[in-house]
Amino acid sequence: MPIYEYQCRACYCRFEEIRHASAADKPACPSCASQDVVRLMSAPSPHGLDGPGLSGPSSGGPGGGPGGGLGGGCGSGGFS
Ligand SMILES: [Zn+2]
Repeated sequence: MPIYEYQCRACYCRFEEIRHASAADKPACPSCASQDVVRLMSAPSPHGLDGPGLSGPSSGGPGGGPGGGLGGGCGSGGFS
């Protein structure tokens, strides 16, 4: 089952959701309950730790790579 990463546009909290591919609705932000969220494309590359060629696309799972604090870092500043 695919896991999608979302970012809330209201509080910039990032979170992950396991979604069915057919699910059309957006999840609500777990922090502020806003549904103004955007789905981030795969291959999260925190600060260039994942250089090109180091790993194939979507080879890293949640919690398995560097910067695995997704979902718990609300208010960490979002994009910088
Ligand atoms: Zn939020």
